[in-house]
Amino acid sequence: MELSKLIRKNIASLAPYSCARNEFEGEARVFLDANENPYNEPFNRYPDPLQRDLKRRIAEIKGVRPGQIFLGNGSDESIDLAFRAFCEPRVDNVVAIAPTYGMYQVCADINDVEYRKVLLDENYSFRAESLLAACDEHTKLIFVCSPNNPTGNAMPFEEIVKLLEQFEGLVVVDEAYIDFSSQPSLLTRLEDYPNLLVFQTFSKAWGSAGLRLGLAFASEEIIAIYNKIKYPYNINVLTQQQMLDHLQTPSQVRAWVAILLEERARLAAGLRQLKVVQHIYPSDANFLLVRVDDPVGLYHRLVGEGIIVRNRHSVRLCEGCLRITVGTPRENDILLETLKRWEK
Ligand SMILES: *Cc1c(COP(=O)(O)O)cnc(C)c1O
Repeated sequence: MELSKLIRKNIASLAPYSCARNEFEGEARVFLDANENPYNEPFNRYPDPLQRDLKRRIAEIKGVRPGQIFLGNGSDESIDLAFRAFCEPRVDNVVAIAPTYGMYQVCADINDVEYRKVLLDENYSFRAESLLAACDEHTKLIFVCSPNNPTGNAMPFEEIVKLLEQFEGLVVVDEAYIDFSSQPSLLTRLEDYPNLLVFQTFSKAWGSAGLRLGLAFASEEIIAIYNKIKYPYNINVLTQQQMLDHLQTPSQVRAWVAILLEERARLAAGLRQLKVVQHIYPSDANFLLVRVDDPVGLYHRLVGEGIIVRNRHSVRLCEGCLRITVGTPRENDILLETLKRWEK
């Protein structure tokens, strides 16, 4: 793989914005360089554009180098930047499994890039050959979401490795739900595959969807391209501070994950007792995809009780399905008791 052939020409030749915080790094007594208001500490100061403290800590936790990390305003920013960096509008295309997370297609459409879907098989799985068969010389990215949303299962590790070995473009593996999975992360393969991008997020297991902080891991060369085209101050001061605090207690996250995995099993067992439930798909994530009788009717009855699940009935291969997030024991009980009451 040659990165210089994958990157858009205008991005390769781009002179990035040089912000005050980048031109001078280090300690000083008086900062009069960025037209900030000297009052209202600490919010008066622009944040570190490269989030160095945060990346140092994340690098320790994840076992990578800080230069292999990009932080974005949610994973959505990492997804969008992949299109903007590598896909020439109306010329290039991307390939993705289907059904999957909706933002890949939305970002493709916004960037005017052809989006090629390859349907998963009856086990919600895929073979590398079928994705590679959908590629041509203009395919820049392949998207694989593992564990996949909305199907819930992890994608076959060896097939992802085959893509990394055989595809000449970049392979994006979205691991938003990896902390709930028994399958290992692709992160350990970062050194082996210069065409690998791994996306993770603090929105799920880390309990911080409101902070908007997504992670992308890739070679230092790819991360340098991301840094060149991102908004200079894409992660605000509050988010950086709050996440640094949160990263002091990774044991808290492990405890949450343990509870949610137990609850996932208990919720599945409870749902299995119900006559309306036809099938519960295996899950490596913090949600269950459940096929039910009359999904649309059931969805609206639940809304009437103030219980909101995700209706996936209109998604190809998910006909008849609701996607149910695993909540607290109390929340899961409310759902189960409500459904049980209606069976009588
Ligand atoms: C929830 C989710 C994300 C997280 O997106 P953020 O923008 O980081 O909140 C990413 N990918 C998938 C597949 C998801 O389901």
